[in-house]
Amino acid sequence: MTTNPLMRASTLPYELPPFAEIREEHYLPAFELGLAEQLAQVEGIAGDPAPATFENTVVALERSGALLERVRAVFGNAASADATAGVREIEAKVNPMLAAHSDAIHLNPALFGRIRALYERREALGLGPEELRLLERYHTRFVRAGAALSEDGRWRLRELNAEIAAASTAFGQNALSAAEESALVLDDPAQLAGLSADAIAAAARDARDRGLTDRWVLPLRNFSNQLELARLEDRDVRRRLLTASLSRAQDTNGPLAVALATLRAERAALLGYDSHAAYVVADRTAGSTQAVTDLLARLVPPAVANARREADALAELAGGPVEAWDWAYWSDKLRKQRHDIDEAALRPYFELDKVLRDGVFRAAGELYGITLTERPDLSGYHPDVRVFEVFDADGSGLGLFLADFFARPTKRGGAWMNALVDQSRLLGRRPVVVNNHNIAKPAPGEPALLTFWQVGTLFHEFGHALHGLFSDVRHPYFSGTAVPSDFVEYPSQVNEMWALWPDVLARYATHVETGAPMPADTAARMREAVRFGQGFATVEYLAATVLDWAWHTLPAGADPGDPAAFEAAALHAAGLDLPAVPPRYRTAYFTHVFSGHYSAGYYSYIWSEVLDADTVQWFTENGGLRRASGDTFRRALLSRGGSVDPMTAFAAFRGRPPRIEPLLERRGLTQPT
Ligand SMILES: [Zn+2]
Repeated sequence: MTTNPLMRASTLPYELPPFAEIREEHYLPAFELGLAEQLAQVEGIAGDPAPATFENTVVALERSGALLERVRAVFGNAASADATAGVREIEAKVNPMLAAHSDAIHLNPALFGRIRALYERREALGLGPEELRLLERYHTRFVRAGAALSEDGRWRLRELNAEIAAASTAFGQNALSAAEESALVLDDPAQLAGLSADAIAAAARDARDRGLTDRWVLPLRNFSNQLELARLEDRDVRRRLLTASLSRAQDTNGPLAVALATLRAERAALLGYDSHAAYVVADRTAGSTQAVTDLLARLVPPAVANARREADALAELAGGPVEAWDWAYWSDKLRKQRHDIDEAALRPYFELDKVLRDGVFRAAGELYGITLTERPDLSGYHPDVRVFEVFDADGSGLGLFLADFFARPTKRGGAWMNALVDQSRLLGRRPVVVNNHNIAKPAPGEPALLTFWQVGTLFHEFGHALHGLFSDVRHPYFSGTAVPSDFVEYPSQVNEMWALWPDVLARYATHVETGAPMPADTAARMREAVRFGQGFATVEYLAATVLDWAWHTLPAGADPGDPAAFEAAALHAAGLDLPAVPPRYRTAYFTHVFSGHYSAGYYSYIWSEVLDADTVQWFTENGGLRRASGDTFRRALLSRGGSVDPMTAFAAFRGRPPRIEPLLERRGLTQPT
């Protein structure tokens, strides 16, 4: 036991987990001990003969479960970024254990009795603002977890939670294996025409890895519209690729989606809500399902009108109607024609390391005064992971930033941020965060050249990282990105604005071979092109949002019937059944909402974008990349984590509640429908 490195606090800088020593067999025993340890601590708190105080109840809970938190953070990252077969097996075992554990805490009547007693006389306890909010949050969290239910109700809730946890784990694993199995295998090099030499080499490598000779494999990414659709010349190959993407996991995950939606509806009813969505948004900044439905209703008609205008323009260029698998291909040509931008020709200006250091890091340096230094002496959880130490303006250490850029078969799709150590003054911890990406790894010695979309993603994910790194709260409950999920994308979306900011772009966008700056007119055209294709992008996003919403506004006892038919009906009802614009995710691989934490929450991206676009306007009005503006934003929002009410913090920062107009303007949704 003592040789298990997860069992003790790390002695590395910033308590970076000792990855070099951690092996797969360490996880399960650490989980088992961590769960038992926290349960014993919780029993101690609940059974304390002394009357409840903030210190002996709430703070004691905040201090409990150190081992479990440690293993959960390390394992949670592994399960998303390096999910080997062994890790997946452990995940399937551990997820139901964690769900049961959470229930054991939240459904402990003696513990809830203490929290309720404190909550009822909260104004008389002399608590500071963060402490008062923490007590209120604990009370809300326990009530929402079922603590106020009868014994029978609590029992049924436990069963439902266990079933939901098992089904959502299975959903995620099915999605991952379906993406692997449904990869498109090509047997003639002519079929790859249009792809870059790098992409063809990667397709050949992928085939070899699967033991196939004279074959090329196009693996599926997690979303519907595969990136190669913009390049592939062979129309039939495009059709096959999109069909493979859209039809994956139907058999395995369709029934699981039905089961999950049904179970969640029953759970919501048990807790006193009309639907799972109603339950979710009651604790988000949106507040009610009506608020989300209203926002969608406002956005759908102009977005669809926009997409139809785009379809007409594409049909004109293509000389006939454009099918879903043709859209990206012709859209790419139209973009070139209208804005004279060739995505592929731009890539030499976006070399990963240059973008990182002279773009992402330097923009943050000018805004917030921070510097980052690579620490090759510290190791990550995979040889590709790089570790940076982050210093504040006064030279003090803020935390560690880990960067895991490259795709690999064990990594899930997309890009995201994880916290490995949560900042907390109570526990004396500084943050350790990681950004994950899925950039194709270049051949040894070759530079990694990005698309502009990937550049934007680097800035986006670093925005999440800053939210974690700047966290300055006392209680771990509120640390960093522990804000409502319809608020959490806001800081990261704001950080995207610097990717195209003239002073920033000029420094990082230099040619990888010649060092020449990107021509000024190219940069200007890129800025003009930002709104190109927004009709398609908004519709495919809204279609996925509507699916999430339809599944999760079902009342208890409703039978959704056949999942594919349910999906089609939901899109039709919303006016989003455009055959040429499939949803960004179909139900069967919509892992965000069926196996992640975004159920009834996919609307959050556009909800946050309202705040984002309004804040971009604020930065722009205040002189752009200025330290004073950065410090204001950091103080008001980035450093506060969940310790203040998010919309109150926003209004205090902006001087008024958010306005939707900047978003409508940005997405080209102000034209008549
Ligand atoms: Zn994000």
